[in-house]
Amino acid sequence: MSQLRPCKVIISGGGLAGLGLALTLEKAGVDYQLLEAYPDIIPKVGSGICILVNALSILDQLGCYEDIAARSTPLETIDFRASDGESLATSANWETVLPEKYGYPFLWMVRSTILEVMYEHIVDKSKILTGKRVESVQNSEDRVEVTTTDGSVYHGDIIIGADGVNSSVRREIQRHATQRNLGPEYTEQNGKSNLTFQYHIANISTELPATYGCMYGMSPALPGLPKACLDFRVNKRSSSLIGTGPEDRTFWFLYKHLGRTFNGAEIPRFNQEDSLKVAKEHWDEVISPGIKLSDLYESKKTVLFSAMPEFVFSKWHLDRMFILGDAAHPMSSIIAQGGGQAMESMACLVNNLIPALSDDSKTGKLSADEINAIFERTQEMRLPKIKSIVATAHQRQRMDTMETPELEDLMLNKFPKIMCDVLVQRWNDAFLDATSLDIFPTPVRLQTARDTRVPETPRL
Ligand SMILES: Cc1cc2nc3c(=O)[nH]c(=O)nc-3n(C[C@H](O)[C@H](O)[C@H](O)COP(=O)(O)OP(=O)(O)OC[C@H]3O[C@@H](n4cnc5c(N)ncnc54)[C@H](O)[C@@H]3O)c2cc1C
Repeated sequence: MSQLRPCKVIISGGGLAGLGLALTLEKAGVDYQLLEAYPDIIPKVGSGICILVNALSILDQLGCYEDIAARSTPLETIDFRASDGESLATSANWETVLPEKYGYPFLWMVRSTILEVMYEHIVDKSKILTGKRVESVQNSEDRVEVTTTDGSVYHGDIIIGADGVNSSVRREIQRHATQRNLGPEYTEQNGKSNLTFQYHIANISTELPATYGCMYGMSPALPGLPKACLDFRVNKRSSSLIGTGPEDRTFWFLYKHLGRTFNGAEIPRFNQEDSLKVAKEHWDEVISPGIKLSDLYESKKTVLFSAMPEFVFSKWHLDRMFILGDAAHPMSSIIAQGGGQAMESMACLVNNLIPALSDDSKTGKLSADEINAIFERTQEMRLPKIKSIVATAHQRQRMDTMETPELEDLMLNKFPKIMCDVLVQRWNDAFLDATSLDIFPTPVRLQTARDTRVPETPRL
């Protein structure tokens, strides 16, 4: 790569998107400083996560794939269950089918594994600061000034808010936009949702909405559960999902309708007492043959219950500030795409930033117009796909919680017969045109799958 123009990137947040961006910028030779709010870059709490093809291909480009694969379990079987835990459909061999089709398996791992591996691969650890919660951002003609809650001040050319669903950078974008009367599309808390959910027409929200909550825990192996499984169960207003991962760990998730859609600041926060209360409401439900929710809860090593906001903000940037990942597009975790989409948004930003920094016809720092063009292009490239993925996740949640008699009929009578086709169609939509990093070669695994893929039968 030719000599890059100077650019200092401040990253707010050291989650999947933030650490992914940090590692990418280091490899590309772009200066950055990452500010993470918590004292530990690798959180000690958390359950399991299933990382899918689009995230894995980017992690492969970053040299992390082998280390991640060595600490995780490739998915083998998928079971679909009725409310009483009985099997409605089952399928196997995904550990072979998925790599052949898409280049990678789906990998179950402890949530911290992916962060650990990315952090290990960062050479200059001094670029990662912990205990630094971004509080405010000031823009001037030629830089951003970022203040953290401990009073420290950092300067950069741009700031990327990879700081999750309650993003401070998003809040700062909205604050500046409000001061300058920039219009309702910047301050979505008071504007109209830009999502049209196919099955959710009656309840289009006007603020960051959360209709479902998720209790997620981690337990040791439980008798009867196969290894490397994805076991999901439909149930009216509370579906569940189990995955079995490395070192005999069982990851489990109870998705629950919150009773109504909560918006913005009224979205409830839950503590351990609330978790237990919710667990008790489902205590005797059979999640999988021989396994009740009480078995999962009582054997848990960790458990949390939290609301799951779902939204796509339509404005991701203002001046020198940009948001990505859950800060820009939080979604239901039921289709395991939040991480992959966060990584794709990160890759798309880098794909637009690096050509500008390596433009030989220009010297010196990026101008305000160039920054605006990079941010706007990234937002516009990502919005159509991300809206469709967030809507798919929401629709899938409504299907699993059988929100209407029609959905109940669909899930109990039709879905079991077409499960594999529906899943593959959804994965095709998510993976076949996924964004990866233009600055690095296409990974051999992905290229081989592309070269040998049998063309899909056109959809009717
Ligand atoms: C129960 C559950 C299960 C899930 N399962 C899956 C799955 O199987 N597969 C999948 O792909 N996705 C899954 N997801 C979604 C996935 O976890 C998120 O989409 C992903 O973590 C988003 O990454 P992010 O970096 O944007 O945000 P986050 O991971 O939320 O990271 C944000 C970071 O910013 C930090 N931060 C926050 N505020 C500040 C501040 N002011 N200053 C500095 N730092 C700050 C936080 O401490 C955090 O480290 C799941 C989510 C949940 C809740």
